[in-house]
Amino acid sequence: FTPGIEPQPTWCPGCGDFAVNNALKKAMANLGKNPDEVLLCTGIGCSGKLNSYFESYGFHTIHGRSLPVARAAKLANPGVEVVAAGGDGDGYGIGGNHFMHTARENHDMTYIVFNNEIFGLTKGQTSPTSPKGHKSKTQPSGSAKDPVRPLSLSLASGASYVARTAAVNPNQAAEIIAEAVEHDGFAHVDFLTQCPTWNKDARQYVPYTDVQDSEDYDFDVTNRQEAGEMMYEVESKLYEGEVLTGRFYKDDRPSYGQEKRSTGEMPEEPLAERYYDEDAEWERCAEQLIDKHT
Ligand code: SF4
Repeated sequence: FTPGIEPQPTWCPGCGDFAVNNALKKAMANLGKNPDEVLLCTGIGCSGKLNSYFESYGFHTIHGRSLPVARAAKLANPGVEVVAAGGDGDGYGIGGNHFMHTARENHDMTYIVFNNEIFGLTKGQTSPTSPKGHKSKTQPSGSAKDPVRPLSLSLASGASYVARTAAVNPNQAAEIIAEAVEHDGFAHVDFLTQCPTWNKDARQYVPYTDVQDSEDYDFDVTNRQEAGEMMYEVESKLYEGEVLTGRFYKDDRPSYGQEKRSTGEMPEEPLAERYYDEDAEWERCAEQLIDKHT
């Protein structure tokens, strides 16, 4: 980074990742969040570059590990707005266990998964959301596996907000991300993004339907059974060429941090404040600077 000069994204032209960056920026601006109020934790992949273009505090973690880092940060400093992000391989494959348990424990954060149905950064390998039969360098005869159902997995694991949006609708994407950020608990946004370099066949290019705007769909987002049935239909139709997006589930149960504080297991005073000594921090930084230049 050069202070004062905005870094230029190195995503390929036409990449859906631009849409996530724009929607996240718009959502935070609409909510009146300043960059220094937000922590963005990313995993590895093209999605991980988001840290370089979204201005906030950031932590670029290792592959699949954005969620445990985000959890620790939120527990230590509940006042910070925590957003975790990663690709479908990073989040539903390598970090799948973290996804399940972060949802189960309802940690208060927004989790955005860039779902382009392949591993993009490493040049187009089959990912957990690649459709059955999808051909790639790792599955040259076509994938023999059914793709993961991320919305259903999220609901079954315990997420308290579950939605899907797509790069082709920037307004809906910004609205859903803003809702997810405002939600107290684990808010999962499956964000359909296109990868024009390695996955030209993906469904993300086709028109989509917002289930909240359509008369064809009528379900209660606070009813777990109805939401589950809706999600199953949404996930099946994606691979039949119909993209359904929208809000699918929401409940208001307490987040992990709220529960722990209410039972006294965690102190009311944030750990980040308890162990932060501004004078000591200045001294440490000054010493490091002196060491570096002597
Ligand atoms: Fe985007 Fe695909 Fe290029 Fe990665 S490889 S930047 S996902 S278009």
